[in-house]
Amino acid sequence: MRDRLAHSHGQAFRDVVRALLGRLPHVPDLVVRPTSEEQVVDVLEWCGDAGVAVIPFGGGSSVVGGVEPRVGDAYAGAVSLDLGAMDRVLEVDLTSRAALVQAGVFGPHLEDQLRLWGRTLRFFPQSFEFSTLGGWLATRAGATSRRA
Ligand SMILES: Cc1cc2nc3c(=O)[nH]c(=O)nc-3n(C[C@H](O)[C@H](O)[C@H](O)COP(=O)(O)OP(=O)(O)OC[C@H]3O[C@@H](n4cnc5c(N)ncnc54)[C@H](O)[C@@H]3O)c2cc1C
Repeated sequence: MRDRLAHSHGQAFRDVVRALLGRLPHVPDLVVRPTSEEQVVDVLEWCGDAGVAVIPFGGGSSVVGGVEPRVGDAYAGAVSLDLGAMDRVLEVDLTSRAALVQAGVFGPHLEDQLRLWGRTLRFFPQSFEFSTLGGWLATRAGATSRRA
């Protein structure tokens, strides 16, 4: 239950207050943690067939209700798809400076891996430690290109 509660809200001030008050009306029925692209596809296919909503979850640092499974009665349930176990840089092409990176990697771990190649993403939102590459892309996050 604790895991489901932790995936029921983001980090806006109202989320923090509601969590402290125990007012979390929208809790996912299940939290899944795929470790591969194939498992992500399996989860999406199963949920699609079962009429269950899927909410991707990166770091959960959303401040606009993005991870809250407020899906309504049209769905049979809600699954929180936590990408945290998919956190690796898979390929780096030094010539084109392109990299293939799994979506669930948090900022510091991403930089640690890119540093091995002598590279950096140069993308440092204030939530750098608490948010993921997939979350940055999904929310079109804004950031500085240099750490303060
Ligand atoms: C203290 C603090 C500082 C912040 N500073 C900034 C800042 O400087 N700049 C800024 O832009 N924002 C900032 N934010 C907001 C937040 O950190 C960003 O929106 C961030 O991009 C969210 O990333 P996340 O991994 O935590 O995503 P989550 O909060 O887990 O998810 C955010 C949304 O993206 C979706 N999502 C997450 N991962 C995936 C994925 N792999 N595939 C598809 N959809 C996905 C979720 O379903 C949800 O709708 C801040 C928040 C806090 C609490």
